[in-house]
Amino acid sequence: MNDLHPPATLGRPLLRDRLGRTLRDLRVSVTDRCNFRCVYCMPKEVFGKDYQFLERKELLSFEEITRLARIFTEQGVEKIRLTGGEPLIRRNLEQLVAMLAAIPGLDLTLTTNGSLLSQKARSLKDARLKRVTVSLDSLDDAVFRRMNDVDFPVTRVLAGIDAAAEAGLAPIKVNMVVKRGMNEESILPMARFFRKQGHILRFIEYMDVGHTNGWRMDDVVTAREIVSLIDAEMPLEPADPNYRGEVAERWRYRDGSGEIGVIASVTQAFCRDCTRVRLSTEGKLYTCLFATHGHDLRTLLRGGASDAEIRDVIHAVWAKRTDRYSEIRTAETAQLRKIEMSYIGG
Ligand code: SAM
Ligand code: SF4
Ligand code: SF4
Repeated sequence: MNDLHPPATLGRPLLRDRLGRTLRDLRVSVTDRCNFRCVYCMPKEVFGKDYQFLERKELLSFEEITRLARIFTEQGVEKIRLTGGEPLIRRNLEQLVAMLAAIPGLDLTLTTNGSLLSQKARSLKDARLKRVTVSLDSLDDAVFRRMNDVDFPVTRVLAGIDAAAEAGLAPIKVNMVVKRGMNEESILPMARFFRKQGHILRFIEYMDVGHTNGWRMDDVVTAREIVSLIDAEMPLEPADPNYRGEVAERWRYRDGSGEIGVIASVTQAFCRDCTRVRLSTEGKLYTCLFATHGHDLRTLLRGGASDAEIRDVIHAVWAKRTDRYSEIRTAETAQLRKIEMSYIGG
């Protein structure tokens, strides 16, 4: 199972890992910095004034990212998501978007906290970004400010979403992480609002990423709870996945007024179909969001390796892959020293 299979799609060989999973999605973290301190991701006590972020020279350059992206797409990657940290605080990100958009057949998207979207939506669209996912955890300003922990107002994120819609970065998806005791009261108002707006709202179970957010199972509001809460007011029915391996489980409003998604990474693990790989800001390759170490591609890039040599390393890493963290998560594994999400790219 871990070898190269005969040509399958578009004449390309399909690369498979030890569990038979192909490599389809690449997430690229373009910065480990962020202007928010979301309590579940970059808690202030850890990511404070003394926190050592990466230095500029440690970051992959746009040329290095684009070169790797080309190599990955030649190996079957069809979709690239730019993430971080907050990707829109990386200077001249539009340049990178334009460079990646020139790769034929690539589905290029970006996840952002929306804080800079009002200013940047148009230039991102002009650089040929296809669409965006915006993270927003509440419409209640006090709750939202508590969660981003930098006193950022909800109105500015909503303005960013409007700007993205106007620029045509659609369909827009809105991601809401639900943490018990923080924002479960916001589930219904968010569902009502985005149903009217026509954007796809997706609820994410709070996860034990990294090792700094003090995760406890009790804090997880499960996808089941969320679906039944919404269904009681706005009846839902299951919808088929758009494609195999889709992370969000889709639910449609029975009256035809749109859909929501739930990402049940804790209670209904989807490792079986996980086709994602992550490239950290400094060029390490991680085959799982919960990995404890990555493979250094930057040294290869800067040491003069050829495309073929880099490709062979990617093949070797993927061929060895056995990750299925969410399927085997326990209270003990949750305590492991894992890589922070803001660095590896959510
Ligand atoms: N800064 C951007 C943003 O917030 O959209 C991109 C990076 S962020 C790490 C990517 C996604 O991960 C966001 O939608 C965020 O809500 C989600 N996330 C971060 N920490 C999480 C956690 N502990 N559990 C579940 N989702 C989390
Ligand atoms: Fe920043 Fe995104 Fe993490 Fe919030 S979730 S702290 S916006 S990287
Ligand atoms: Fe993929 Fe790892 Fe998440 Fe499982 S836990 S779905 S293998 S990233």
